[in-house]
Amino acid sequence: MINSENFIQDFRDLYLKSPQCGSWSRGSENCDYGDIITVSKDSYMCFNSGNCRDAYYCEDSRALTNCTDCAFCEQCELCYECVDCNNCYDSNYCQDSVNCEDIHFSYDLRRCKHCIGCVGLRDKEYYIFNKKHSQEDYEKALETLDFSNPKILEEIDKKLEVLKREIPRKFVHQFDTQNCTGDYIYHSKNCYRCFDTRHTEDSGYIYQANLDMGTKDSWDCGPIPTGMDLCYDIAYSHYLFNCKHLYWCGNLKDSQYCTNCFESKNLFGCHYIKSKEDGYYILNQKVDEDFYKKTTKEIIDILREKGIYALYDLLFKDLDRDVVSVSDDQLGRSCTLCGDNFEITEDEIGFYKKMDIILPIYCPNCRAEQRIDLRNERKMYKRECGGCKNPLITTYSPDNPHIVYCLDCYWQNIG
Ligand SMILES: [Zn+2]
Ligand SMILES: [Zn+2]
Repeated sequence: MINSENFIQDFRDLYLKSPQCGSWSRGSENCDYGDIITVSKDSYMCFNSGNCRDAYYCEDSRALTNCTDCAFCEQCELCYECVDCNNCYDSNYCQDSVNCEDIHFSYDLRRCKHCIGCVGLRDKEYYIFNKKHSQEDYEKALETLDFSNPKILEEIDKKLEVLKREIPRKFVHQFDTQNCTGDYIYHSKNCYRCFDTRHTEDSGYIYQANLDMGTKDSWDCGPIPTGMDLCYDIAYSHYLFNCKHLYWCGNLKDSQYCTNCFESKNLFGCHYIKSKEDGYYILNQKVDEDFYKKTTKEIIDILREKGIYALYDLLFKDLDRDVVSVSDDQLGRSCTLCGDNFEITEDEIGFYKKMDIILPIYCPNCRAEQRIDLRNERKMYKRECGGCKNPLITTYSPDNPHIVYCLDCYWQNIG
């Protein structure tokens, strides 16, 4: 029995009862502490990363070896405290540097070796604070630099900051892009305010889409939206077409308000099911096409009336709040959460109309935060698998009320 009036409660109840996966790491060895680690070995407290060896506390990175405290790095080895570095070796405290070796406290270097405290150099060797030194002097300086002394680190940092202000930098981190606003965008076109995004087209507010299949014609997706077309309000999901309000889903078509659903189409308000290609489903129950169409319309009307906007609202929000009226003609508005003013562009409005979505009442940052808030904090706990009872190391605390499975049990028991 499906009662449209009870949808919100039933949706939440089903969500709380449905199993969650204790860890999404796969193809990895000795990487139990951390999450979403793929094809990696001997790594600790890394998140959203792949092909890593001996990496510690790294995030959103690929192919790191022997690295610690790095974020948004690729193909680095023996690096420490680096951000947005690519193909660097034996380097620490560096940012935005590519193809470098033995560089320290540096910013925006390309193909440089043996540099300390440098900014904006290309093809240089033995530089300290952007001044050429002999190999001997450089080696002496490096030897006397005690990186474990906070006072020395502070001094270097101060000098580096001065240089950073003197040397001009590129206004944006983009490569192979056309008509994109945002930062750290690669191989993309027509992107509006996207960040850390690759292979994305005709989309807006896409975050952390760093994999090779980006998104097309989608808004408000990420982290980790992969291979999506015509999607909205999606987090941690892949290969979707025409979907809205999903979390941890993959290979879905024409579906809305789902978590942990895979290889299916025409799902509405479903959790933890897979391979439902054969019909229409509301709250995990099979229904006929006419009922599906009529009932989903009814439910959406109720959600609109209550001002339910995102998946996050539906799962966690107190519904006895003031309903915000949303008129289509008002392009500038203030966020009902943080109060910041934000604008809605014409392109965005076109998309919302096409997708039949009410105009947002939250600013883009709050929207992205809500999607991230669907996940657990980056803390690891020991608890046992709800299926096989094997010990799990997971971001689900022992008192988290969900049923939590290991990856094997998760796939064995899915409906
Ligand atoms: Zn806001
Ligand atoms: Zn298990």
